[in-house]
Amino acid sequence: MLTQRIQAAMREQMAASGTPFYLYDQKTILERAGRLKQDFPGFEFLYSVKTNPFAPVLRTVLGQGFGLDAASLGEVRMGMAEGLPPHKILYSAPGKTRRDLEGAVDHAILVADSFHELELLDAIAQERGTQLKVGVRVNPSFTMEGNPGVSAKFGIDEEQLLACDPGRFPHLALVGIHVHARSQELSAQMLARYYGDIFALARRCVERLGMALEFVNLGGGLGVTFNPDRDRELDTAALGAAAGKLLASLREQFPGVRVVIETGRYPVCDAGYYVTQVVDVKESRGTKYVMLQNTLNGFARPSLARLVEVYHPGPVEKMWEPLFSTFDAFQFLLLTEETETEQVNLVGNLCTGTDLMASGIQLPRAKVGDLLAVTKAGAYAYVITPTQFSSQPGPDQFLLTADGRMVDC
Ligand SMILES: *Cc1c(COP(=O)(O)O)cnc(C)c1O
Repeated sequence: MLTQRIQAAMREQMAASGTPFYLYDQKTILERAGRLKQDFPGFEFLYSVKTNPFAPVLRTVLGQGFGLDAASLGEVRMGMAEGLPPHKILYSAPGKTRRDLEGAVDHAILVADSFHELELLDAIAQERGTQLKVGVRVNPSFTMEGNPGVSAKFGIDEEQLLACDPGRFPHLALVGIHVHARSQELSAQMLARYYGDIFALARRCVERLGMALEFVNLGGGLGVTFNPDRDRELDTAALGAAAGKLLASLREQFPGVRVVIETGRYPVCDAGYYVTQVVDVKESRGTKYVMLQNTLNGFARPSLARLVEVYHPGPVEKMWEPLFSTFDAFQFLLLTEETETEQVNLVGNLCTGTDLMASGIQLPRAKVGDLLAVTKAGAYAYVITPTQFSSQPGPDQFLLTADGRMVDC
């Protein structure tokens, strides 16, 4: 359901530019970020900016006291540009180069993803004649589901880390751990148990490595409701209460320890709408096609979801994230007074048959010039879309501010 306020902003913007665009509703972002802060006292939140780096969105989330989960040197620089101090930027990513590490070392807390990165950091610290405090991304001996650990390209296996001689990196002080298993979990119970497992891992690191624990980064995973008929909403109050008990017990042992949770999708996914317009309506051998401006090359996720549905039927693994979440994640809302519906395919204006956003859906009878809004367009949306494909003008982006202005920078 679109509020009158949002519909009016969409119509006005399309009338002015004629170009598809993303609209991010600031009220929704503020409400989601506020809910997390309220439900998790004592925890810190980091915004996983790879989800949606659009500056007005980033600013809105940071304005709520979030720090930054940076996955590249470029993202570290975004945090710096917004005035974040080094301790509020955690830089964790696989495959960081020496240049990446040197570029970030004074501006963020660095999390090493491998023994090679620890060696690079040790050499950097030695050259500077300092001791550097760093974190380590750990590939734990357990999964979020509570099963034995798996092989991964991320981090250092817990067994290898615990067996390593801390004297191997004389210019480093290991002061924190980072764990991130996966995204899009809706069970508060599962996440709470997983957080407890990570705290136990932190205790093992202290015991075996003599780590002077300053932070535990619990990673991401807070899920959003893609289909309200099927998904139970994540109970953030229950998760916050359970996590708070675990935190109190951890702090008995490590009084000043920072515990951070990363999230990208939770504050921004529902805030985003992709808005395009009908440019043609045709019928071919019994099928109705509603043709839209920029679909695969404007907001790729619905088309990708449809391709997965067609070519990978059956149960879907969560590891398709962030390219794909669920088949039924999106609603297609035609802005019209028309009440009579018909069955249609939603297609785009690219010269490829894969540019199919939805098939066989019921939609009010569409006409050229109607606006169509797609929901769940706030997270992994603009950034993962091949907007260069076919040299059509790419979509614009706007934040609809809480006081009703459309801002684009
Ligand atoms: C992408 C990413 C996140 C964001 O995860 P969501 O669950 O999608 O919010 C968090 N942490 C890490 C390490 C990531 O790579």
